[in-house]
Amino acid sequence: MRLALRLVACSVAACSAFAAAPEAALRSAVAAKVSADYPALEALYKHLHAHPELSLLEEKTAARLAAELRPLGFAVTEKFGGGHGLVAVLKNGPGPVLLLRTDLDGLPVAEETGLPYASKSRMRDLAGREVATMHACGHDIHMTCWIGAARALVALKDRWSGTLVLVGQPAEETGVGARVMLAAGLYREFPKPDFALALHDSATLPAGTVGLIEGFAMANVDSVDITVRGIGGHGAYPHTTKDPIVLAARIVTALQTIVSRETRPVDAAVVTVGSIHGGTKHNIIPDEVKLQLTLRSYSDAVRRHTIDAVKRICRGEAIAAGLPDHLMPLVAVDETQSTPATFNDPALTRRVRGVLSAWFGADAVATIEPEMGGEDFGRYSRTVEKIPAVLVRLGAVDPKLAAESARTGAPLPSLHSSKFAPVPEPTLTTGTTALVAAALDLLAR
Ligand SMILES: [Zn+2]
Ligand SMILES: [Zn+2]
Repeated sequence: MRLALRLVACSVAACSAFAAAPEAALRSAVAAKVSADYPALEALYKHLHAHPELSLLEEKTAARLAAELRPLGFAVTEKFGGGHGLVAVLKNGPGPVLLLRTDLDGLPVAEETGLPYASKSRMRDLAGREVATMHACGHDIHMTCWIGAARALVALKDRWSGTLVLVGQPAEETGVGARVMLAAGLYREFPKPDFALALHDSATLPAGTVGLIEGFAMANVDSVDITVRGIGGHGAYPHTTKDPIVLAARIVTALQTIVSRETRPVDAAVVTVGSIHGGTKHNIIPDEVKLQLTLRSYSDAVRRHTIDAVKRICRGEAIAAGLPDHLMPLVAVDETQSTPATFNDPALTRRVRGVLSAWFGADAVATIEPEMGGEDFGRYSRTVEKIPAVLVRLGAVDPKLAAESARTGAPLPSLHSSKFAPVPEPTLTTGTTALVAAALDLLAR
């Protein structure tokens, strides 16, 4: 409600007037603070980078962030939501509540960047397997900028009024963290935000730039497990069997028509069969084949239709193959594990874009394309409170490499790649400054 009033009050003309003439003294105060902090921030970044922890196992990472925030005067709650979730609150007079979220987790990837501070870490995952770990998605960048912003905003406390709620969220990579923190009462136990903001690094935008998009930014993600059942037998006597390999092949092909024939061409959707396993030997027809799918969409209606269509096609193809009723394919979609789409509130996105354009120059603020990747940040605005939220993408690629890639068309290492090597500077300064600039505007006195 407060957002609506503030946005009405902050007309387009007023916002652009502010954008056109940001307070130079404030900007140089922020620049001086971030620059004085930079050596410590880079050291923190390299420490976090070298010590990644897997989803739901972010114990030392969360403890380190808590230790950074307490001396700044934040009221810090650790292990919120049953995992290693961290909530740090700073009340600084009347005004709106701004939630800034960072994610904490790394990935089971063996780093191959060759950087001097590359991770050599290994740890046991939740299943007990020992795996190499890497911050291959750049969550170490997000954490560092989040700490950098906390320091700068504390130093500039007299320049804003309101409440900061810093959320250190576990398990972004598994789509679990935001859900458990919200279910544990994030908006009941702590001040309820008027806005939510997060950074995510980009493996294509050059460092020193940011990217925004209004509306859908990231997709609904659903994982589907299908067991195609048949009646096995000898490969030489197929007429005595119901071959689940042929049936699985038909299902894989028919699934392609969900997007191409059943979905409005202007609606985005993806159906990918990422895994197919069945059989043991040349001349044995097996009893079952297992498929694993990822489904992506933006709207709730397309998501629902896609899931229902997968179930219908599996059943229909099994009927066509002559399977008896008790051997229909088993289609498992654990909808509690789904990640909802990230929708950037258009008014908030425009407002943040105006601020970042004023601070960095319009050339450094790109309009990016929506993606079908997943990010559980969308959950923060999908509660009854409907908090307006925006995910700002942060350029992390060495600008020379980005220019070379644009010239030659050679792809850069993507997020989650063992070779993803973001440049600390100017990435960290840009990310920190972006959070501070947005906060100073949203919590303006
Ligand atoms: Zn990731
Ligand atoms: Zn990520």
